[in-house]
Amino acid sequence: MIKIHNTLSNKKEDFLPLNLPNVKMYVCGITPYDETHLGHGRAYVTFDVVRRWLVESGFKVTYVQNITDVDDKIIAKAGAGCQVSGIREVAEKYIQAYFEVMDQLNVQRADKYPKATEHIIEMIKWIESLVVGEFAYVVEGDVYFEVAKFKDYGKLSNRKLDDMKSGARVAVDERKKSPLDFALWKAAKEGEPSWDSPWGKGRPAWHIECSVMSTKYLGEQFDIHGGGLDLVFPHHENEIAQTEAKTHKPWVKYWLHNGFVNINKQKMSKSLGNFFTLKDIFKKFDPMVVRFFLLSTHYRSPINYSDQELDNAKEAYGKIMKFIADVDFIISKTTEHAPSVERKDMAEDFLPYEEKFKAQMDDDFNTAGAIAAIFELIRFCHKTIESGDREKECLTLMKEKVLGLCGVLGMRFDNSKIQTFDSCEIEELIADRETARKNKDFKKSDEIRDKLAKQGIIIEDTAQGTRWTHA
Ligand SMILES: [Zn+2]
Repeated sequence: MIKIHNTLSNKKEDFLPLNLPNVKMYVCGITPYDETHLGHGRAYVTFDVVRRWLVESGFKVTYVQNITDVDDKIIAKAGAGCQVSGIREVAEKYIQAYFEVMDQLNVQRADKYPKATEHIIEMIKWIESLVVGEFAYVVEGDVYFEVAKFKDYGKLSNRKLDDMKSGARVAVDERKKSPLDFALWKAAKEGEPSWDSPWGKGRPAWHIECSVMSTKYLGEQFDIHGGGLDLVFPHHENEIAQTEAKTHKPWVKYWLHNGFVNINKQKMSKSLGNFFTLKDIFKKFDPMVVRFFLLSTHYRSPINYSDQELDNAKEAYGKIMKFIADVDFIISKTTEHAPSVERKDMAEDFLPYEEKFKAQMDDDFNTAGAIAAIFELIRFCHKTIESGDREKECLTLMKEKVLGLCGVLGMRFDNSKIQTFDSCEIEELIADRETARKNKDFKKSDEIRDKLAKQGIIIEDTAQGTRWTHA
C-alpha cells in the first residue's frame, strides 16, 4: 500500500484513488516568460517520479499540467501595446525552452498541457456562476472572490480566517470587501491584451485557470494535486475555495507539495535573484547528475544547492555508472562456463534489495531511501563478483536489476557516457610494457603500469606472463 503525505490532513495516508485503477493527477505548471530554473526542475522531477511510481505500481495515471500563458510578466516581456498574439509568441519561446530542459532531465510529458488563453470562455462561465452563487462580486470590471463566504477557507494551509484578517496588510485595493478577497477576473488596463466578458474587457486572474482546466480534463473530483510548497497559500487555498464554492463537493483527495531549493539556506527564487537556470547548470553538470541530486533528498524536505553538493552527486552517480561499466567489462572477458552445481536461483538473491526499494517508494515516494537500496544492491553484486561468481547469466541479471531500479526513478544511462574498456588497447599496452621490461626500460614499464592503473586495470606478473584484471 502506498502512503502519501497529504497537506490537507497534514498526515501520511493510505493512497486509495477515487476510481481504481485510475489516478487523476494535476500539477501547477509554468508561467513561460523566462528560462526554467532549478526550482522548476525540482517540482517537475518530483511529480515525474510520483507518476512513474504510480504507473509502476499498476495504476493508470492521467497527468495534466497547465501553462499560464497570460500573466503580467509575459505581458511586460511582450512589450507595451502587445496583442494576444504577442504574449503567445513570448510564451511559445519559453514553453519550448521548458520542454528542452525537461527532456534532458528525462521528465516524461504530461498527458495534457492546457493553456490559459485557450480556456477563456470556460473561465468566464465559472466566474459567472460564482457571481450568481454570491461567492464573488464585481467592482468596476474586476471580479473578486469573497473569502468570508467560503467557510472552509484556510483548510489546506491550516490558517484561521480571523488570524489571516488581523495579519493581512491594510487593503491595497480599497474596493475589495476584505484584503483577503482575491481576483478572479481583471479589467483590462491600457495596452494590455484582453478578452470580452460580461464585466467588460479583461483577462482572467491566475488562480481560476487551475480550477477550470483541472476539472475540465480530470473531472470535478480527482485524486492528486501537486505543486511547490510556496503554492499552498494563497494559490492552492484559493483554488479550493473557488472550486468547492462552485461544485459543492470535496475537490482533490491528496495534496502533495515539494520542498524548496535553498542556496546558502535561503530559498532560491527569481524574486530574490539567487536562482540558477537549468540551462546554465547543464553547462557544468550532466542533467542526469542533476536529476540524481534532486532525488537524493526526500521531496518534502528542503534541498541545498551548491557546486559542492552537485559534485557529491556526480561522484555518487558515477559509482552507479562505474558498476555498469565494470559488469559490462567482466561480461566481455567472461568465457561461458557451466554454472556451479550448488548455486541457487540468482534472482532470489536480489529480492531483499528490490523489496527495500519498493518499501521506500511506497513510503511517500522516499527516493533518498530508494537510492540507498540501489547502492546496497550494488554492494551485494560487487561482493558476489569478488567471491568469484562471474557467470554471464548472473552478471547480466545484476546489470538488469540495477538498471531496472534506476529506470523506475527515471535515471537513464547513456552508453556513450559509460567508461568502457577497450581490451585490445589494454593488451597492446601490456605488450609494450613487456618489451620495455625486456629492454630494462623500467621507467617506461612503470609509466604504462600507472596509465593502466588510472583506468582501473591491475596487472600482475606471473610465471605464465602478465595477467590483468579490472579493479
Ligand atoms: Zn495552480
